[in-house]
Amino acid sequence: MRTIGLIGGMSWQSSAEYYRLINELTHDRLGGQHNAESIMVTVDFAEIEAMQREDDWKASGERLAAAAAALERAGADLIALCTNTMHLNAAEIKAAIGVPFVHLLDTVAERIRADGPTTVGLLGTRFTMEMGFYAAHLAEYGITVKTPPAEARDEVHDVIYDELTQGVVREESRQTYRRIMRDLAEDGCEGVIFGCTEIPLLVGAADSRVPVFDTTRIHAERLVELALG
Ligand code: GLU
Repeated sequence: MRTIGLIGGMSWQSSAEYYRLINELTHDRLGGQHNAESIMVTVDFAEIEAMQREDDWKASGERLAAAAAALERAGADLIALCTNTMHLNAAEIKAAIGVPFVHLLDTVAERIRADGPTTVGLLGTRFTMEMGFYAAHLAEYGITVKTPPAEARDEVHDVIYDELTQGVVREESRQTYRRIMRDLAEDGCEGVIFGCTEIPLLVGAADSRVPVFDTTRIHAERLVELALG
């Protein structure tokens, strides 16, 4: 079994989900007392969030590259970054390590392509929905990404930062997400990407008319596949 290295803390609410999922999935595959072999380096999300607000992606890149290098030194055989947004720094992370970096966007794009949709809605942080890197990456796989209108993007973003990253789950916010996902489906989206690793804490497949792509689960499944071979 290969050792999975996780860069966590963005936020720790979703890192805990990654940890639970890689262990559950490994147990499902191997049974008995098996769990995943893993190492997590957790950054302080307050520092990262300040860098995001200040648009200092150079500083965050250095911080995350250092976390990845620490994982490799500690014995990780493959490394994953447990957030969609911070894949803005994927290049810096990749450059800092000699072991494979399991890119979340590649993993998700491969799943969408396998399942068939070519136009999908994207929910995530403002950075993920508006900075263009996500849509550009999926376009390389022939997938068109649509985001909600500006006011709805603000709602999606604020629920992530004001609630989900702090462990707060509110029914009112669930209804908001349901409405936004319904509008995306009516706008021609054949699926919706939960492009933020905390979103599955709030909503699931039953909240959407079209199939959902839960990036936390899809990424964790890929990590376990690679770790177990
Ligand atoms: N976990 C989130 C994501 O997947 C948001 C927190 C962050 O900015 O990293 O994008």
